[in-house]
Amino acid sequence: MTEPVPPAVPEVVVDLDAVRHNVARLRERVAPALLMTVVKADAYGHGTVEVARAAREAGADWLGVATTAEALEVRAAGDEGPLLCWLTTPAEDLAPLVAAGIDGTAYSPAEVDQVVAAARAAGRPARLQLKVDTGLHRGGALPAEWPALVAAARAAQDAGDLRVTGVWSHLAAAETPEHPANAAQEEAFRDALAVVDAAGLRTEVRHLANSAAALLRPSARFDLVRCGIATYGIDPAPDVADADVPGGRLDLRPAMTVRAPLLLTKPLAPGDAVSYGHTWVAEHATTVGLVPLGYGDGVPRHAAAGVGTDEAAEVWIAGRRRPVRGRVCMDQLVVDLDGEVLPPGTEVVLFGPGEGVPSALEWARACGTIDYEIVTRFRGRAVRRHVGQRDTEERYAGPVADPGREERA
Ligand SMILES: *Cc1c(COP(=O)(O)O)cnc(C)c1O
Repeated sequence: MTEPVPPAVPEVVVDLDAVRHNVARLRERVAPALLMTVVKADAYGHGTVEVARAAREAGADWLGVATTAEALEVRAAGDEGPLLCWLTTPAEDLAPLVAAGIDGTAYSPAEVDQVVAAARAAGRPARLQLKVDTGLHRGGALPAEWPALVAAARAAQDAGDLRVTGVWSHLAAAETPEHPANAAQEEAFRDALAVVDAAGLRTEVRHLANSAAALLRPSARFDLVRCGIATYGIDPAPDVADADVPGGRLDLRPAMTVRAPLLLTKPLAPGDAVSYGHTWVAEHATTVGLVPLGYGDGVPRHAAAGVGTDEAAEVWIAGRRRPVRGRVCMDQLVVDLDGEVLPPGTEVVLFGPGEGVPSALEWARACGTIDYEIVTRFRGRAVRRHVGQRDTEERYAGPVADPGREERA
């Protein structure tokens, strides 16, 4: 087994082999539906451009982003494949989107007009998808507004200003398969598709499912599924039993490891208190370790017991879990080493893959949030390093023994 070299500075390691593995498994699972890999918010903290490239290598048919800037970043990196953007704003110039052949999304007739103006400025027809609000009550046209949106898009298509390439919606409770909203939204989506058919529009894709629905609700797959979180090796529905996952649970591999060098170890006497506000007091003599990561890097301040929840988040050091003690600071945090004295520079893993190592889900539970937010937060100061790129030999051995890893590498 290869021991990883301890990090010289705090870093976020992103394993692109894991991303490719996850994308390939998702694609297999949802076929014949196509797969969109969602790379919004800097690919949930994993790096838009690197993840976009790895996803395409593994067969992602589409990429999806929220903002225009994110879509143009993908294009600037050389990606020319199908790409959907779904959160444009009323005053922004959409001509660069049209010029780059990126699919926009309209929620209203006013947005159709905005896209028509952009198409005329760009000198080519736009590619436009239409979003119906089937019950999330976030973006999209309500069913009552839907015929007017479809008619406006149809008219603009007839005038040669755009092509309607897709119709889609988004689910509110896909990670809870028994939630009645799933069936209700799917039915509302089918009704919306009937309106599109009646208007004589033939689109390339119709889509409804995020990661959870792609895995848990085959009837919601339609032509395409939009997978974000599963791409990164995080289970979208950890509370659903294996037996309730059609086809069985996928062996997703977490792509992100957050790690840092231990700075120093010090002894504490009973009664010594730690960090701002002295919220944690040592009951017995112990040792504590200093870790150079804090909320300025993305560690939630709620990671300490008594701040967010009753349970402290834990980190992995020298083969054991160690609880966070006292308040997390902007730049650093303190962990309980339970009497051990470890050399400065010893590897500290906040979360990552590997037997025994805390997961992003465990961090989320300790901090009162979801793992989506945990991974997406690490976009600050810690250095992000991608391993498993096709054009380099570099591999990250991981924080602990993993018997399968060497043969995969
Ligand atoms: C973020 C997002 C997704 C991806 O959701 P996951 O749960 O991460 O798979 C899909 N569709 C839309 C519209 C989104 O905003």
